[in-house]
Amino acid sequence: MHPLAAYAANPQQSQGRAFDEEPSSTRNAFQRDRDRIIHSTAFRRLEYKTQVFVNHEGDLFRTRLTHSLEVAQLARGIARTLYLHEDLTEAIALAHDLGHTPFGHAGQDALNACMRDFGGFEHNLQSLRVVEKLELRYAEFDGLNLSFEVREGILKHCAIKNAKLLGVVGQRFLDKTQPSLEAQLTNYADEIAYNNHDIDDGLRSGLISIDQLAKVELFARNLAQVKAKYPTLEHRRLIHETVRRMINTLVVDLCTHSANNIAQNQPESLAHVRQLPELLGFSAGIAAQNLELKQFLRKNLYHHYKVNRMSAKAARIVTELFAAFYENTGLLPDEFQLYAEQDKARAVADYIAGMTDRFAIREHRKLFTVEESL
Ligand code: MG
Repeated sequence: MHPLAAYAANPQQSQGRAFDEEPSSTRNAFQRDRDRIIHSTAFRRLEYKTQVFVNHEGDLFRTRLTHSLEVAQLARGIARTLYLHEDLTEAIALAHDLGHTPFGHAGQDALNACMRDFGGFEHNLQSLRVVEKLELRYAEFDGLNLSFEVREGILKHCAIKNAKLLGVVGQRFLDKTQPSLEAQLTNYADEIAYNNHDIDDGLRSGLISIDQLAKVELFARNLAQVKAKYPTLEHRRLIHETVRRMINTLVVDLCTHSANNIAQNQPESLAHVRQLPELLGFSAGIAAQNLELKQFLRKNLYHHYKVNRMSAKAARIVTELFAAFYENTGLLPDEFQLYAEQDKARAVADYIAGMTDRFAIREHRKLFTVEESL
């Protein structure tokens, strides 16, 4: 472990777990949290959940699992550079997408619409629900009983009405204070990871082209550097050499700009960090280029007609599953039937949210196709 700054989170000064536990003799609290996340069922399901491309569309596209690993890798590197706690940032990164529904944002939007009259559905809040309630593995408590700092980092945004229901972990949204720098940086690592791997996946799928991307400054500048150095490089290597330079540009800028902010504000402790404005961030120039890239992806990839078609199918599956289970809870597996007696809509939403893409497709077929076996 590298030296820790005074402003880093410290597992020995953690605000603790909801249920007191004996400390581990070999691992600090954040390491232990990271290990619990990796052993969870929800973590294994990430392998078969959509990032942009539905799992069956190809073996080489990112899934939620490989996305989460990329986020963890970037976050650890940045944490080390800024003398922050690597284990905490890794734990947050590995858990940040645990609450995603099948079929990515299309699935979440459909489930949120189904839950409109029952408190809504939001994947970020659901990630917290997974680690606090839905994982049933330990004798003495529901969930994974993670440290406060990990749970706080998982909840990266939250509406005021929800924050009021969440107790200590929601308090910062009411107080308008910051989370740890480890949590702040994991958000940026998430963004750097998905913008860049979505370019790679988008090009691989043929839905976007290098010619289109040449209009995006961050891509164009790095592409020009690669072409100048390697004029005859073949397509795949050209893309990777460009994307790795883009990632490097963003990471170096984030580290440099954040280190300057930290130096200017001189935070003395995590408690002090909470009272300051957000200290992690890109410089203004790179923030603008990063935004341009994001907007390009939204327009040209996330709303490509072929992605729209898959999203429409996904929304139909989620909506029809919800309606079928809500109308007749006798169709749910036994343990969810019991839960549905207390809160029907939430039980159905939790059941659907936990599904992988292929499980949801199979469940839909089982419920709606007479010839399908049960
Ligand atoms: Mg993510």
